[in-house]
Amino acid sequence: MQSWTNYHSHCHYCDGKYAPEIHIKAALQQGVKIYGFSSHSPLFVPTTWNMKMERLKDYLQEINRLKEQYQADIQIYTGMEVDFIPGSTQVDSPYIQEAGLDYTIGSIHFVDSFADGTPWEVDGGHQLFLKGLKDIFDGNVQQAIKRYFERTREMLQTACPDVLGHMDKIKIQCEEGQLFSENEDWYREEVLATLEVAQQSGVIIEVNTRGVYKKKLPDAYPSRWILEEILKLDIPVMLNADSHHPDEITANFSESASMLQDIGFKTFRILHQNKWQDVPFTSEGLFIP
Ligand SMILES: [Zn+2]
Ligand SMILES: [Zn+2]
Repeated sequence: MQSWTNYHSHCHYCDGKYAPEIHIKAALQQGVKIYGFSSHSPLFVPTTWNMKMERLKDYLQEINRLKEQYQADIQIYTGMEVDFIPGSTQVDSPYIQEAGLDYTIGSIHFVDSFADGTPWEVDGGHQLFLKGLKDIFDGNVQQAIKRYFERTREMLQTACPDVLGHMDKIKIQCEEGQLFSENEDWYREEVLATLEVAQQSGVIIEVNTRGVYKKKLPDAYPSRWILEEILKLDIPVMLNADSHHPDEITANFSESASMLQDIGFKTFRILHQNKWQDVPFTSEGLFIP
């Protein structure tokens, strides 16, 4: 029997909808056998989407309770999607380490800072993206995107998470190729340099379906040409939904798994019985031993 896994998920502890238990019930209905919660880590920067520091203890306790309650039906893991803001938040920050997580997803949502010290959120609204581009990079889009990938590499080299989250999410800001294009040499060089560092770091790269089912992009993160390079480099991948709603837990999984098969991927890396392991999959799901 095949089943799905999803390790990138949000619930009401951050900007997702509904309590964790609602997500577990929905996951079971969608044929999910392993589920990881990855709320946005608390930050020292005010945002509308991260978990508040004072909620952290409850988050950990509630998921531990669910692990026991549902252990006969589904494996549950406690993770976090941790930002990389050097000197402020990274996977080896004491408050993240002390949480005793089962795994971490490292995602770049911020690049550099405005003159007043406010970190520039690159995957917030497009207007905020344009403001940072103008104020911090003098409108030089190439420099700004390079900094995004540089920061990704810096994270992998200095505070490496288990999983690299939506590695090319910055492409959402490209204005359908008007502002920058993935076909440009400089963009491809940045991606390839990042994959080289990813390979050395041992990180798992997630294939994140959110952009597709939200109808923002035709392609998953990362794009197909990047996935082809990832296969050549033999970097492990996993399939994640970045769900914020119970309906999204396996959204576009079948199509994406089929695309990954078509590229030539044979296995997904999963956390199973507390160990990372590679298991085969088809468009119907994973073969979990
Ligand atoms: Zn994210
Ligand atoms: Zn996320």
